[in-house]
Amino acid sequence: MSGGRPLPQPAARRWFALLGLLMAITGLIGVGLLPWRYPSSSLLYKFGPDRSLLLVGKTIGLVAGALLLVQLVLVARLPALERMVSQNRLIAAHRVVGITLVGMAVVHPLLIFSSDDLRTIPVSWEYWPEIVGAFVLMAFLAMAMTAVGRAFFRLPHHLWKIGHRLVVLPLMAVLVVHVFFVNDGYASGVPLVFLIALVVCFALGWIWVAVRPLRRFHLHRVVSSAPAGDSAITVTLQPLNGRGLSHAPGQFVYLRFRSRALSFEEHPFTIASAPEAQAQLRVTIRCCGDWTQRVGNVSSGDLAAVQGPFGLFSPEAIKGWRRLILIAGGVGITPMLSILAHLAAVGDQRPLTLIWSNRTRSGRVHAEQIDDLGRRLNHCRIYHLFSREPEAGQQYGRIDRQRLSQYLGVHQPGTYVFICGPAGFMPTVQHALGRLGYPSTAIMTERFHM
Ligand SMILES: Cc1cc2nc3c(=O)[nH]c(=O)nc-3n(C[C@H](O)[C@H](O)[C@H](O)COP(=O)(O)OP(=O)(O)OC[C@H]3O[C@@H](n4cnc5c(N)ncnc54)[C@H](O)[C@@H]3O)c2cc1C
Repeated sequence: MSGGRPLPQPAARRWFALLGLLMAITGLIGVGLLPWRYPSSSLLYKFGPDRSLLLVGKTIGLVAGALLLVQLVLVARLPALERMVSQNRLIAAHRVVGITLVGMAVVHPLLIFSSDDLRTIPVSWEYWPEIVGAFVLMAFLAMAMTAVGRAFFRLPHHLWKIGHRLVVLPLMAVLVVHVFFVNDGYASGVPLVFLIALVVCFALGWIWVAVRPLRRFHLHRVVSSAPAGDSAITVTLQPLNGRGLSHAPGQFVYLRFRSRALSFEEHPFTIASAPEAQAQLRVTIRCCGDWTQRVGNVSSGDLAAVQGPFGLFSPEAIKGWRRLILIAGGVGITPMLSILAHLAAVGDQRPLTLIWSNRTRSGRVHAEQIDDLGRRLNHCRIYHLFSREPEAGQQYGRIDRQRLSQYLGVHQPGTYVFICGPAGFMPTVQHALGRLGYPSTAIMTERFHM
């Protein structure tokens, strides 16, 4: 990493994750104990299993509420967390916790009312806190459905994200109102302190996320934008203050363009240039969606706000590797480009293998530069594959177990594999490598879909 702090190594990251997990579990256990330690009066009329079900129901509801704070922490891009856990993992955890939370929110009323005959519960405004709770549950379900089924509902990513964020703050407020008024034990003491702490922490976290676009960005100017392959654009940026971004090869940034041609929403892109080329930062963008299809309209002189760098998809995050295997599909070559350029710049002599799969030759981005880097790196082998060009002879086809076995052989200690490509590509390659005996701890992946 040129000039910046070195990336944390796997052992340190594992300890950090373990510690974070322990802290979260301890906090959640503390929250879960509240209904047992400070029971509300509704428990006075329940006995035996009914009482236990009511207590468990309340516990589950309260823990689900506290998980909302965990959700915020996972997406807050807190610098310490970002350095130790990759964004992809944090987003994946956010998704899993979100689904768990909604599941708990559904189970919560089922357990609470399990001992009551629902037909005898009068529906009247006297029970407004319960009605508010039902509203919160519906809102959670709607949030989960739109998050999981975003593609199905054809929701543009940026609009969905704005909605997701805007809804959650009032939802937390309404949830706290529900907890406060549905129980009679939260007007004082520890339960009240808990509720106030939850609201304050959540509000502060929400503001931190909301003002993120205004924080810690590096202003760059677009130097050029040029086609790369037949469906991508390479944008070259120059730092306005002359000081380049200090990054590790393989890391990514969030980009926003201040351009008439594009909306000001942020999108993640891997830095395709080497850390050594700090004076210029290059990204190669496949034009595949609403926003990226218009990125070719940015012109030199436009401003770009760059946030980052982020990510741990870098050989710099693994000290002492002996051999690197890079496997890319299509535009998934961008992190590999930065890695190869960096290794060439520092004169690294360790063996490297790159397998790059594309549909066609003309679809490749920076193919000449890749081949040139292959020649500059003494111990580098490059294999090109084309899945839609039968005339490519031996290079025709997809990456499969047989090909991987032929190109890579068996796993040797110190060998690490980096995989980046389309959503369906990575599990296939990972599975094939697993069957060849490559341990999962030696396989790093970067997903271009969050
Ligand atoms: C870590 C990382 C590195 C990436 N590096 C590159 C790269 O070097 N080159 C490249 O071409 N692509 C890269 N991508 C993918 C790129 O970010 C998306 O293709 C782009 O944001 C799609 O935007 P769109 O509106 O044009 O497409 P859409 O069709 O609207 O979106 C396609 C998918 O892209 C994702 N996406 C869209 N907008 C955002 C957003 N604002 N934030 C996060 N995800 C979003 C969503 O999963 C969405 O389903 C990277 C993605 C990630 C996560």
